[in-house]
Amino acid sequence: MPILKMLDLDLRAKRVFIRADLNVPQDDAGGIEDDTRIRASVPGIRAALKAGARLMVTSHLGRPKEGEIKPGDSLAPIAQRLSELLGVPVPLKANWIDDGEVAPPPGQIVLLENCRLNKGEKKNDDALAKKMAALCDIYVNDAFGAAHRAEATTHGMAKFAPVACAGPLMAAEIEALTRALDHPARPLVAIVGGAKVSTKLTVLRNLAPKVDQLLVGGGIANTFLLAAGSPIGKSLAEREMVEEAREVMKTCTQRGCMVPLPVDVVCAKALSADSKAEPKPTQNVAADDMILDIGVESARALQAIIAGAGTVVWNGPVGVYEYTQFAQGTRLVAEAIAQSKAFSIAGGGETLAAIAKFGVTDRVSYISTGGGAFLEFLEGRKLPAIEVLEQRAAG
Ligand code: ADP
Ligand code: MG
Repeated sequence: MPILKMLDLDLRAKRVFIRADLNVPQDDAGGIEDDTRIRASVPGIRAALKAGARLMVTSHLGRPKEGEIKPGDSLAPIAQRLSELLGVPVPLKANWIDDGEVAPPPGQIVLLENCRLNKGEKKNDDALAKKMAALCDIYVNDAFGAAHRAEATTHGMAKFAPVACAGPLMAAEIEALTRALDHPARPLVAIVGGAKVSTKLTVLRNLAPKVDQLLVGGGIANTFLLAAGSPIGKSLAEREMVEEAREVMKTCTQRGCMVPLPVDVVCAKALSADSKAEPKPTQNVAADDMILDIGVESARALQAIIAGAGTVVWNGPVGVYEYTQFAQGTRLVAEAIAQSKAFSIAGGGETLAAIAKFGVTDRVSYISTGGGAFLEFLEGRKLPAIEVLEQRAAG
């Protein structure tokens, strides 16, 4: 469904409110550990300033208690980094709800303090949303990373603002994900791995009717191996999900979609940085083994499938890539995606860390900034922040 886009609107001298996702990881001293999210928000902010908007920007940071400001909750370090990136002053305004007009002059920006400090934010309180909506002429949601949450700045404001639209990052995320899942160049190959088995099974249930090849790794593969009657020893898996795994495989095979299971794996007796890796055929997994990676032969098989793909969607490392001896499977998958001509999209905290570790970030077509939101999109759920923008665009 169509949505209004910020870049299509005239922002000159308008009070523009951007809800961004500047929720960066911080160390104990409040230092920014990774500013990816801030940098991803810069193009939208810069475009609005260039267009002469009277720009207000806010974000959540962490999970503060509403109404109780503690030093670690402040967006102050973010204001500073944003100012460095933009090359303009970024003043920070606290108590911005009941303080009258907060919009700066045209072409200038003010950062509004952590929106999760406001009472009613998490509960998506209408009264709070109306007050905030009254501060602006145009509400812009550019926080894809928070799109799966219906809160006052991600959802309520969009209902009440005079105009509600998507910022460029939000628009790009929606476009990339729809391109991959709704109008994919075929064959569409999904790779699902990682540790959060039960959440990822919902992803698989949604993807099964859409994909041409379903590639599994990590805890997901273990659960599927279990369903197929293979020994998995002490591996991470979810026994109560075995039936579900069978259903997914059935949905796929009935459509002629393959779900190749690893024929070889890398095991260890314990999971640690110095545990000894033992490659072996899957059927030889012992009762005290943990499967911690897919084997070389299996990884090569995945590489061949990825090489022939038209579209690749990836979430979840196929092994414990954090330790060198269990990283090979994930590295080979990452390299195959980098080399492939397919439109590729990847998301998820550890998946992106793995992609960065193997140095292929620039060769993935689209890197999603939304961890939870990306997963919920893959699960086929309607993201509330996107849905409300669609409703507004429909009139
Ligand atoms: P993402 O953050 O990309 O969505 P997850 O959080 O689901 O991915 O899972 C990532 C974690 O899964 C990684 O830290 C990795 O070590 C772990 N993992 C991958 N394969 C296995 C496995 N076979 N056994 C245990 N943990 C695994
Ligand atoms: Mg994770």
